[in-house]
Amino acid sequence: MKNIITGFLPDEFKGLLVKFKQPLYRATQILEWIYKKKVISFSEMTNLSKDLKQILDDKLEILALKQLLKLKSKKDNTVKYAFNTNDRQIIESVFIPTQKRATICISTQAGCAYGCIFCASGKKGFKRNLTVAEIVGQVLLVKNDNPERQITNIVIMGMGEPLANYANTIKSLKIFNSPDCFGIGARKITLSTCGLCPQIIDLAKEGIQIERSISLHAAEDKLRSKLMPINRKYPLNELIKTVKKYTQEANRIVTFEYIIINAINDSKEDALKLSKLLKGFQAKVNIIPFNPVQAVDYLPVTKEALEAFCEVLEKNKTNYTIRRSRGSDIQGACGQLRASLEKN
Ligand code: SF4
Repeated sequence: MKNIITGFLPDEFKGLLVKFKQPLYRATQILEWIYKKKVISFSEMTNLSKDLKQILDDKLEILALKQLLKLKSKKDNTVKYAFNTNDRQIIESVFIPTQKRATICISTQAGCAYGCIFCASGKKGFKRNLTVAEIVGQVLLVKNDNPERQITNIVIMGMGEPLANYANTIKSLKIFNSPDCFGIGARKITLSTCGLCPQIIDLAKEGIQIERSISLHAAEDKLRSKLMPINRKYPLNELIKTVKKYTQEANRIVTFEYIIINAINDSKEDALKLSKLLKGFQAKVNIIPFNPVQAVDYLPVTKEALEAFCEVLEKNKTNYTIRRSRGSDIQGACGQLRASLEKN
């Protein structure tokens, strides 16, 4: 099997070229073509010799993904991509342009084992972890497809639980961050987890200054266990203790995500429980109105319920932001596009 360049850190790639008896500067040239000049074919790398191009063609590939489908939202210009891996797993990425930012949301697993009740990825079950080349390839392909915008942010919030694919996610973060590759500042990268406590602590020890976001979605155990089965393994008191420990060790504020769903977790009592849970905590909550998902019978929150919920948060001085769901006309929620492609 051929090695795939997007799965290598720059130093590893340099080591590989040394094995091919090539000078080190060749590695820098090739990475420049791929990551800076958007060239993903060896034949177009005009400063390489014919012999070297032949070696590269024989021994290496650049990407491990092929684009399967692309849908652009008429509402907000969000673009959703479905990619095929070499073993025909379908994974999803999203390009989210706003006035100030151009963000790519990526997947780290094909499917997901955690079964959150509101999530299309969870509904279809877990297939396998993505390789580094498959994680990094999503950013490269989406970036190349949107050359008019400079990519400012990466969010690891797509299909799968990134901390359950720990080693490959960490290596991908280093490639995103490396000036020889994407050069995206660590603080412009956000990793979202459903709350795997041991890995949250491991991540703090990595010393990578990325933003971390914890999916909360309920402020009491009974409801959270119903919405997110992981809560049975790591209940709220353990999760909050872990996150507090993490914020102290890493000296960082964390963000909690709260998908607000009609008549499930949108009452004033729910808001009060949320405020109490986060009291005295250096944290911010993103309130995300639920984006209806096929095969999930939940409804979006009403405007009135959302306002009442936020009033309680304000009264209790809970730091929050309302995040609008994007790409609702193109199956923008995680796992939706894959679910519909696999059905067809
Ligand atoms: S919300 Fe995240 S952790 Fe939960 S099932 Fe979906 S992808 Fe998995």
